[in-house]
Amino acid sequence: MSEVAVEEGARDFIRDIVRADLEAGRHDTVVTRFPPEPNGYLHIGHAKSICLNFGVAQEFGGRCHLRFDDTNPVKEEQEYIEAIEEDVRWLGFDWGEHLHFASDYFEQLYEWALHLIRHGKAYVDDLSPEEMRAYRGTLTEPGRNSPWRDRSVQENLDLFARMRAGAFPDGARVLRAKIDMASGNINLRDPVLYRILHAAHPRTGDAWSIYPTYDFAHGQSDAIEGVTHSLCTLEFEDHRPLYDWLIDNLPVPSRPRQYEFARLNLAYTVLSKRRLIQLIAEGHVRGWDDPRMPTLRALRRRGVPPAAIRDFVRRVGVARADNLVEPALLDHCVRELLNRTAPRRMAVLRPLKVVLENYPEGQSEFLEAINNPEDPGAGRRPVPFGRELYIERDDFLEEPPKKFFRLAPGREVRLRYAYFITCREAIKDAAGEVVELRCTYDPATRGGDPPDGRKVKATLHWVSATHAVPAEVRLYDHLFRAPEPGASGDYRDDLNPGSLEGLDQCRLEPALAEAAPGEPVQFERQGYFAQDPDSRPDKLVFNRTVALRDSWARLQAKDK
Ligand code: ATP
Ligand code: MG
Repeated sequence: MSEVAVEEGARDFIRDIVRADLEAGRHDTVVTRFPPEPNGYLHIGHAKSICLNFGVAQEFGGRCHLRFDDTNPVKEEQEYIEAIEEDVRWLGFDWGEHLHFASDYFEQLYEWALHLIRHGKAYVDDLSPEEMRAYRGTLTEPGRNSPWRDRSVQENLDLFARMRAGAFPDGARVLRAKIDMASGNINLRDPVLYRILHAAHPRTGDAWSIYPTYDFAHGQSDAIEGVTHSLCTLEFEDHRPLYDWLIDNLPVPSRPRQYEFARLNLAYTVLSKRRLIQLIAEGHVRGWDDPRMPTLRALRRRGVPPAAIRDFVRRVGVARADNLVEPALLDHCVRELLNRTAPRRMAVLRPLKVVLENYPEGQSEFLEAINNPEDPGAGRRPVPFGRELYIERDDFLEEPPKKFFRLAPGREVRLRYAYFITCREAIKDAAGEVVELRCTYDPATRGGDPPDGRKVKATLHWVSATHAVPAEVRLYDHLFRAPEPGASGDYRDDLNPGSLEGLDQCRLEPALAEAAPGEPVQFERQGYFAQDPDSRPDKLVFNRTVALRDSWARLQAKDK
């Protein structure tokens, strides 16, 4: 049912329940569903739910449905429906024939609402939303019965039919279950089942002027589809008694059960769709796929492979205890995967010119570079070399501190796959900034191994100035600087002003001009990168997917 190889050995309380149910013969097969509301794009939190639902179905030989929970036409759009399907597929899962919509069940749900009315278990209430809130009571005080609670079945049937026919304005009336206004669980205090909404629905258009609530639609949709294990996040735990009440009181074709697990919380990140929409509307990010966003399309644009997300979710695991996961774990999964698969290339992000005084003018040559030391099958490529090169600006210091082993006046280093060079002089501009290094190279060290066996302490990456292609490179940091944005005030005050650094003077080795869009590459010594969709043949744009760890930066941080 899915292209993803079954990951063996996953073990958690949900899988234990499913295993026990199958072994005890309570079900012949397991059926799960992923139920997004099409009111935004999917994010890394949804990935946890997707991997769990599809993963469980796959591991136990069952099936998983994709069901849109499209019961609130005011916020839902066709654009989101299409994007969600695309993102679930991208993550590696396939629902086969089981693409469903709660809106497909509107007629059946309406029939079941009539069933409740006829059995005296639902009534039309005329209280205003404010009055309803006041009657509901609080966590410590019981609620009070609505004055409309004891309407006759006939009157309820009549009013509900007129609600459907569009006879009343939005908010004028609701249909409520008649359960218990004194219940300790507020969800059982006569919850709303239907509200009036004169809004066009992406799929049913103007056919309806009443829409079922999440609570009325969800469990019944599960039952219609034969879902056996309805897996959701912990905030629905208090809704479970209502879920069960509805299943017990309706002639549904099967009896699904709801189980709750902890949602994924990521440090330095917000995952609420309301906030994500706000970040876009207020221009803090460029859109849903801005690579700093936690959405699946943003991660894809940034170059994160779907397999790394699945690995991340597997390592996070499934439990009932809430916790905050470090995004460094996702970075780790990305590095581990790309280290095995991504071709190596050389790119200079902040160029400093190097002139080799003893290299003949007008001459150039090709040196051979290894594509991926982790993958001998990846082969080698020629890299052009010449008299004028670029190295990374921070690979040179005029007055190097003790632990800085890279280039400095009088010092010799290795240029990767090329030669040993020695810095003779640093040329400065009027402001005293180093703008060029005059160096010499040792022709005997071609390939990077001197015949006399002498050692250098650093190997630098470089590009040939005459052959390099210019590019813009975008470096990303956490969108928020606080681990829990908004923990002490407005979450927007925690935005990281340095979350995007655009470098537009970068120089890349020519092979990178042929990199396929979206295909991850390693820029040696820097990290993993992927071409951005903004990239054009004459103006390449790369995103940094994740940095490599940098021992120098770590030491500096420690010294501070
Ligand atoms: P929001 O509250 O931001 O609108 P949501 O949870 O309502 O998000 P849905 O589209 O209803 O978004 O979510 C679909 C499914 O994904 C639900 O079953 C929900 O529990 C699950 N889900 C959403 N966020 C997370 C998360 N952070 N971790 C795990 N599962 C999640
Ligand atoms: Mg929801």
